[in-house]
Amino acid sequence: MKDNKPFEIDNLDGYQFEELIAKIMKKKGYENIKVTPKSRDEGKDILMENLEGDLILVECKHQKFVGRPVIQKLQGAMNFEEMKNPNKEVKGMIVTSGGFSKEALDYNKKIGQSIELISGKKLRDICKKLDIFILNGKVQIITNNSFKNFTENEINDNILKRYSKIYGNKAHKISVKSQLKFIPSCFLKYNVNFNTSTSIGCVDNYSNSGKKAVHGITGDNLDDGVHDFYFSGNIDFEEIDKNKLINKQPYEFTENDIEEQTIESIIDEHTHNISYTGNNNVTYNKECIPKKRDIDIKKFVAIYLPFWSNSIKISKMSYNQNCYVKGNKQHHVEDELKKCKICKKERNDYEDMSLCPECGRIVCDNHVKIDYLDKKTPICTIHAKPLKLYIQNKYFATKENRNEYNEWWKSKKFFQKLWEDQIAFWLSIGGIILIFIFIISSFT
Ligand SMILES: [Zn+2]
Ligand SMILES: [Zn+2]
Repeated sequence: MKDNKPFEIDNLDGYQFEELIAKIMKKKGYENIKVTPKSRDEGKDILMENLEGDLILVECKHQKFVGRPVIQKLQGAMNFEEMKNPNKEVKGMIVTSGGFSKEALDYNKKIGQSIELISGKKLRDICKKLDIFILNGKVQIITNNSFKNFTENEINDNILKRYSKIYGNKAHKISVKSQLKFIPSCFLKYNVNFNTSTSIGCVDNYSNSGKKAVHGITGDNLDDGVHDFYFSGNIDFEEIDKNKLINKQPYEFTENDIEEQTIESIIDEHTHNISYTGNNNVTYNKECIPKKRDIDIKKFVAIYLPFWSNSIKISKMSYNQNCYVKGNKQHHVEDELKKCKICKKERNDYEDMSLCPECGRIVCDNHVKIDYLDKKTPICTIHAKPLKLYIQNKYFATKENRNEYNEWWKSKKFFQKLWEDQIAFWLSIGGIILIFIFIISSFT
């Protein structure tokens, strides 16, 4: 794939070719790129600026040969632009899918090479250098960019560290199967600028900017939590390791598709209502809707998100854990180690959970009993072994512990036995007090 990069632009019409060139130029680092509307082509197809702020007029020719007249026409447009912007340096560029005639090349030499000429071959080289893949005129997303990731050992260590916080964890060893996936995503930064006018003139001047992160397979916006995890704070980029490339999930969309789709959602997001007073002193409402050309995608980054699916076995129970990774941080979208196997509720901390030694269930504090004899072994409410004293039930992790306690309890004197059954004990005390009150009141 690397040596045989697809670069297919033959089927494009002139306008699609211009759009494509604008995209390539953006990737090359030019700014404020505007494709001239078809009807107003004044000898230039694209207007853009380089990093020094110079104005560059681009003429696009999707044809086999470009002759001298095209250069002369662009020169005219450059002169005109120089008059309009006297304090700006104006430069020219002609991009073709084909080549330049000898006449054109000679003429450009004569005028001091003031216009940059980019032939189809050179265009291909630029794309190759910038890692741009074009198929059916659309920019394909092919990248190995990702975030700094965990190794499988680090993932395992991390799970063990979390597991060790669960009460009673020593009763079982865990086994972990981890699977790494790289999930395709795109990150976009944009500006929106537009005015809304009515018969009384401009009534709204809107300017805003924003960010979007899109899933490269579904095309949906990324979940807010995932978005914030990756795109705020430190961003630790890393190329995907060669032997992990197999874990990449391919992008379902082209860059053009994603941009178009995102622009639709940006339009929705920045559509707003205003009210204004007309000349007749009547108040009107107006919906201000940005147009596609009011939105400038300033940045487009295709990047893979490292995603681990861990399947954890404890005794016969299995637990799933799914998390995104960035640097040394994890963002869990699912973590069954914190989810009670009985009530299915998720808790905040591993410290809130206990492990049943008998079945391997991880349970919340509502679904665990502590062995009454050794005062430390946890047992899930399904496997806790009850022993009824007078009224109260005591729970044990094993039958042996239950028997041992039972023997001991039976051997005790009545009051000590009663004291062990706190419910029976306090009920008795309450009863005695009531009897006393009754006797005293009957004497007075
Ligand atoms: Zn529970
Ligand atoms: Zn159990």
